[in-house]
Amino acid sequence: MRYEVVIFGGGATGTSTFRDLAMRGFSVALLERRTIASGTTSASHQNLLGGLRYVLSDPIVAQECAEENAIISAIAPEVVGELQNYFVGFSTEYAWGALRAAKKLHVKATELDLRDVFREIPSLNIDLAVAVETTDRNINAQRFCWLNCASAELCGGSLFQGTEVRAITQLNDGFRIKTNHGDLRTTYIINATGPWVNTVAAKLDTSIPVTYSQGTIIVQKALSPRGIQHLRQPSDADAYIVHDGYGWLGTTSTTINNPEEANPQPWADAYLKKEFAQILPGVKDQPTLSTFAGVRALADDNHPESAKNDSHFENGRRKSRDFRVIQAPKNAFHVIGGKLTTARLMAEKIADVICDKEARSARCQTAKEPLAP
Ligand SMILES: Cc1cc2nc3c(=O)[nH]c(=O)nc-3n(C[C@H](O)[C@H](O)[C@H](O)COP(=O)(O)OP(=O)(O)OC[C@H]3O[C@@H](n4cnc5c(N)ncnc54)[C@H](O)[C@@H]3O)c2cc1C
Repeated sequence: MRYEVVIFGGGATGTSTFRDLAMRGFSVALLERRTIASGTTSASHQNLLGGLRYVLSDPIVAQECAEENAIISAIAPEVVGELQNYFVGFSTEYAWGALRAAKKLHVKATELDLRDVFREIPSLNIDLAVAVETTDRNINAQRFCWLNCASAELCGGSLFQGTEVRAITQLNDGFRIKTNHGDLRTTYIINATGPWVNTVAAKLDTSIPVTYSQGTIIVQKALSPRGIQHLRQPSDADAYIVHDGYGWLGTTSTTINNPEEANPQPWADAYLKKEFAQILPGVKDQPTLSTFAGVRALADDNHPESAKNDSHFENGRRKSRDFRVIQAPKNAFHVIGGKLTTARLMAEKIADVICDKEARSARCQTAKEPLAP
């Protein structure tokens, strides 16, 4: 079977790219070695970020999150929670700086009357000094990925689950991909395997400079009807995202050498509870029902290989400092970094590059077209 594009990895990035390319009329296949959304996407906090977290530390990412939050909420309301999160904190100075920056960046954020907030959520620490409502909301990441796939299949895309890439051979006109279910041929490869990016890259005799950062999340019965986040510089244990009556508290960030080593860290339970008890004192005594860990593959800008690879970066890479698309060898694109919230945007940038290469003018439709069953 021959395709114009074959994507590896059925997480948020791969499925969003699958949808975008299929809607633009490409013959495209997605290969997922397990089942859709069985990697980092499901091991994430599943918070559709609104951008407030990053307004001071990374304004570009903040703006992208704000824009994508609005787009996903409009095209896929059924996968997004109803209640917006409150950011609460102790430093009014930090809060006002963040509110000023949010206004400039068009990130929605409104200061609330603390008395109303304490009335709604009596379990909050009474010493809190400031509360802000913003557009962060819980998202069902698995369903988001499934809907992307359904939409891609409706446009002619081919989905292969339980299909693992075993070997890749470079040909004059593209690549031959050997899988456990037979061979495929393609002109372009998109490696969207998240933290497993280098297992696929190795089959192309290349290596992508990344740092693996593991994060642990614990799940408890929720002490608040809506998500609560600590209003301060991005840090560990700053988000309590509420999914269907359960509070997901996280996260941590520890560098590991190999994504296969990912495991919830034994110390994380006590650490997360102690840290977030500043905001919601009850979390300390609330039993933990489950714990899980995910791995971020972060672009390693300090790695000497990054400088060498700079000429491989493609269009759109500068829009975000949060994700990178590295081409190595020609016509094989490796995607690293990014967020669940910005997966649609990443897909748009990748599909733009393929369109440029093929001199096709097909425009992205994923920001407007409803993502519905
Ligand atoms: C702890 C944590 C919390 C996070 N919280 C948030 C959050 O609240 N909001 C947010 O916006 N972002 C969040 N993120 C970031 C977000 O989860 C990721 O950016 C996003 O999910 C990455 O998706 P992906 O598709 O790139 O990777 P993945 O979801 O990991 O998908 C990669 C897929 O590739 C498959 N695969 C691997 N090897 C092969 C192979 N050889 N052949 C075929 N398939 C293969 C895997 O099975 C997997 O399904 C968080 C990340 C972490 C680690």
